[in-house]
Amino acid sequence: MHTTTTRTQPSDIAAPSQDRSFGNKLLEMLAVPAFVLDTSCKVMLWNRACERLTGVPSGEVLGTSEHWRSFHDQPRPSLADLVMQQRTDEIRLIYPRQAKPHDATALCAESWCEMPRVGERRYLAADASPILDDGGALVAVVQTLRDLTDEKMAQIKLEQLATRDGLTGLANRRCFDETLHAEWARALRQKQPLSLLMVDVDNFKAYNDTNGHLGGDECLKRIATAVASEMRANDLVARYGGEEFAVILPNESLKGAAIVAERIRCRVERLKVANAGGPDGNVTVSIGAATAIASQEATPSQLVGIADAALYRAKHMGRNRISLPFAEAS
Ligand code: GH3
Ligand code: MG
Ligand code: MG
Repeated sequence: MHTTTTRTQPSDIAAPSQDRSFGNKLLEMLAVPAFVLDTSCKVMLWNRACERLTGVPSGEVLGTSEHWRSFHDQPRPSLADLVMQQRTDEIRLIYPRQAKPHDATALCAESWCEMPRVGERRYLAADASPILDDGGALVAVVQTLRDLTDEKMAQIKLEQLATRDGLTGLANRRCFDETLHAEWARALRQKQPLSLLMVDVDNFKAYNDTNGHLGGDECLKRIATAVASEMRANDLVARYGGEEFAVILPNESLKGAAIVAERIRCRVERLKVANAGGPDGNVTVSIGAATAIASQEATPSQLVGIADAALYRAKHMGRNRISLPFAEAS
């Protein structure tokens, strides 16, 4: 028996696409969050996925220019606004993390958004593309969004693992080395002093012997918090290794570094964590300081060496004290 199969002809599928509402329905049901702005930057389409992402129903934004409220606490033009208003150059100022768009007239960027209605920050990637009529005139702009929060958080976690010390949460040795080199280069460029403190816990072996290794770990965490609490925004405190911490003080003279060192020493002393092996029966630290002046022919590792030598002298002088290069300060 001869059977005929009915095939869809190209003319059949062309029919719905000629219907504008088909295009709208398609965008409406798309799993990708999207919205469309008209020539006066008013929302003409806000699809279901966009409602789910933002928690804002389309009825609230359609016909308004209030779409920014779905993403931010403060007014901020969306990429679609920038495309529509031909302000694409401003993307650099508003969205520092841009991606390469698929064509020159489109914009791509990533940013953290407060998402006021959802009540939780999301990291969104946005793409805005112009929609032109047959004559090439700009009639609308479509913006699609991707929620990259999970990927961003995983990336931040990895970066933290690479730069943070697991026990204390301070910068790790690798981060210290990189920061010291960067600050050294900056100090040379700006002809500013760069100071360094090496902080070592006194008689910590005795503390461990009395309190066990886990007790020792807790003590190191408390000392780390105490040292970090004395830092300014541009300083870096790192776990240099074992029971030793390093503090980078950009633009700080030796005199200023000595003041910070003494503050750290006092702060740890005030913790009053008992250590029978310590000079005063409590946990204390000894600190060596060093400062490099930009004009000196020196290297970052020499700065570490000078601070280390000062620390050695502080230990030699009886511990629980600070020491400056070639002169004891306490
Ligand atoms: P000093 O005053 O000369 O610095 O004496 P110290 O006992 O502190 O120095 P020493 O170098 O003899 O011993 C350091 C101790 O620090 C030994 C080591 O087990 C302990 N330590 C290093 N890292 C850790 C750590 O992560 N956790 C714990 N609990 N102890 C640590
Ligand atoms: Mg020690
Ligand atoms: Mg040590």
